[in-house]
Amino acid sequence: MQSSMSFIAQNIASVTRKIETAALSSGRDPDTVTLIAVSKTHPIQAIEAALKAGQRVFGENRVQEAAAKFPPLKLLYPDLELHLIGPLQTNKAAQAVALFDGIQTLDRLNLAEVLAKEMAKQDRFPRLYIEVNLGREPQKAGVTPEDVPFFLKACTTGLGLKIDGLMCIPPQGQDPAPYFDQLALLAEQSGLPRCSMGMSGDYETAIAHGATEVRVGTALFGERGSLL
Ligand SMILES: *Cc1c(COP(=O)(O)O)cnc(C)c1O
Repeated sequence: MQSSMSFIAQNIASVTRKIETAALSSGRDPDTVTLIAVSKTHPIQAIEAALKAGQRVFGENRVQEAAAKFPPLKLLYPDLELHLIGPLQTNKAAQAVALFDGIQTLDRLNLAEVLAKEMAKQDRFPRLYIEVNLGREPQKAGVTPEDVPFFLKACTTGLGLKIDGLMCIPPQGQDPAPYFDQLALLAEQSGLPRCSMGMSGDYETAIAHGATEVRVGTALFGERGSLL
């Protein structure tokens, strides 16, 4: 355990350095980029090692898994910030609002409606990101780029939600740079300050193209085994 803990601390230091370099070399302030440590499938011990190394922002794909791992850690580290980066079913929206500080997979109107109700009821307001399906991939969730203005207006004017940014997962096996550019432009046109884009393989590219949060799992925690 000791060796895997220092492995994680070293990875955090090295990814943080690469984030700084990528930001500086594109003329950006490194403080404008947040590292989200994606801890899905990894045990609490790995998350604790990251916390001890100073990491405070985490991402998980599944509500159940996050609910099993994070509540005790949130008590120990009140400044821990947890983002949902996987699909959200409406029947888990209440639990998600209670647990997460950011929900990055807002992708349909009925989910927005349920979240708006739950947020008002719980008086808890996680940051919200609209997931955009830039590649129009049928197997992927997300609003199509041309629907973003309508969907955003339905969320804000229609439901009174505050939307913080956009999130994307570009198609695999293609140069992600044009997709990152497209998301950054769409966010700018929509008046949204945040762009969640870039993973272990391409976070430096994403930063060069305007990412404000990068979601990095494998490069911090190692390869994922089977899902919990
Ligand atoms: C798993 C996941 C990541 C992290 O992927 P790595 O390649 O392990 O860095 C980022 N974003 C989303 C939406 C994910 O599901």
